[in-house]
Amino acid sequence: MGSNSEQEHDDGHVVLFPFMSKGHTIPLLHLAHLFLARRLCVTVFTTPANRSFIDQYLADTSATVISLPFPQNIPEIPAGIESTDKLPSIDLFYPFALATIHMQFDFERALTTLPRVTFMVSDGFFWWTLDSAAKFGFPRFVFYGFGNYALSVSSFVSQNRLLHGPESDDELITVTRFPWIKITKKYFDDAFRGADHNRQASQASEFHVMSVVAAARSHGMIVNSFYELEPVFTDYWNTECGPKAWCVGPLFHHAQDEPHDVLGDKPTWVDWLDKKLEEGSKVLYVAFGSQAELSAEQIQEIALGLENSMVNFLWVMRSKQYSSDTATMDIKGFEERVKRRGMVVKEWVDQKWILMHESVQGFVSHCGWNSVMESICAGVPILAWPMMADQPINAKFVVEEVNVGLRVETCDGSPKGFVKSEGLEKMVKELMEGEKGEMARREAKKLAEVARKAASEGGSSWSTLQLLIDETTCNKNTRFQTISREG
Ligand code: UDP
Repeated sequence: MGSNSEQEHDDGHVVLFPFMSKGHTIPLLHLAHLFLARRLCVTVFTTPANRSFIDQYLADTSATVISLPFPQNIPEIPAGIESTDKLPSIDLFYPFALATIHMQFDFERALTTLPRVTFMVSDGFFWWTLDSAAKFGFPRFVFYGFGNYALSVSSFVSQNRLLHGPESDDELITVTRFPWIKITKKYFDDAFRGADHNRQASQASEFHVMSVVAAARSHGMIVNSFYELEPVFTDYWNTECGPKAWCVGPLFHHAQDEPHDVLGDKPTWVDWLDKKLEEGSKVLYVAFGSQAELSAEQIQEIALGLENSMVNFLWVMRSKQYSSDTATMDIKGFEERVKRRGMVVKEWVDQKWILMHESVQGFVSHCGWNSVMESICAGVPILAWPMMADQPINAKFVVEEVNVGLRVETCDGSPKGFVKSEGLEKMVKELMEGEKGEMARREAKKLAEVARKAASEGGSSWSTLQLLIDETTCNKNTRFQTISREG
């Protein structure tokens, strides 16, 4: 990695400030690669504990990485925790996110030492970077990590107070602007619905209002999507809402060498997948992102469902997910029983690489937007099992809008309900061997090709990125009038 101060900035200098959660950081690091490939200088801001993760992604590039101290002595946040996946509970998300405002002083001090910034891409969760952009006179683009479908549906539902009508949580609500879409209150977290009336709810509401206001006053939104994937929702957002959504995805590199683990060795699951391919066996990939919290009871049901389904599977279980003693003991017995056709991995994996592996023919996913994009780009159909945040809406998009997946069967039929082993087994078989699974696979493969073209030279995302660069760099000597939060 290089030093910006030594470099020419004729082609523009972009500052990236990703939020400290993997699902928000990873796509912006891929965006950094795209900017570097278009000859822009890139500076990435982070905190000390996140630095090595970022350095790995930007190794052998000229990007500059600056670590700002993470705020200390934040009530409820243990010392040394600087990313949401390390929080003892995701319930601490709001105190964590609100604490980031204490980084503003150091951020602005660092900006004074940098060459002139052409524009910034800030995570939308850092609402306060709008004021920094206004002070320094450069445009701020926000990145939320959502697709335009989730963004449009949630925003329409919220603005039109659609969740305030029905008495029951199960009553179907028509999203009138898109009347084919029916939702229930259960698609949304309590904090979004205003269904909580505790301290966390007031923190959530304060945080969301500040983020939304700051986003609305920004120059645009960077979206990890491609126009052809969700044209109706991108057009809706850009004509009736705003700020303009720039679809520049899929935000990840395709071609890559075999992955290595932290010690530089080849991870065991690489050989395992290669062996499955040689045998001519199809593999189901099971993973729930970087921060989903599953109960020990739910893990037991997953194990039983996978065991009874008789499919080959690679299951990534995050450490938080198998921390209970009971779950760990049973999982060991389970691993022994299924060792010929199943593998359980407990460390960080290269998910994109796994999804691109020829043996992988299905993905049980929580439908984090990155996982959805990665699966679509690999042409792998999804068994949608959403758990929180935008995931239930993303699952709806996957299953009903672009037909690249099936829904897992929950006990109570609700989008985030408990899943018994039978509900998982039945749908896993359908995904891997059934007709509906095959149809979803065909659609996923078609979309993968569209995604590839969108990101290739001359494609929609490629051209959108160029337009964004042209618009911002041709004005790079102009001081932008970014309106601060105070207006
Ligand atoms: N990821 C990965 N290895 C892991 C776990 C996650 O590479 O062991 C990546 C995954 O490919 C995706 C991101 O982490 O890019 C997770 O983002 P997503 O939106 O799917 O879910 P989140 O973690 O935000 O819930």
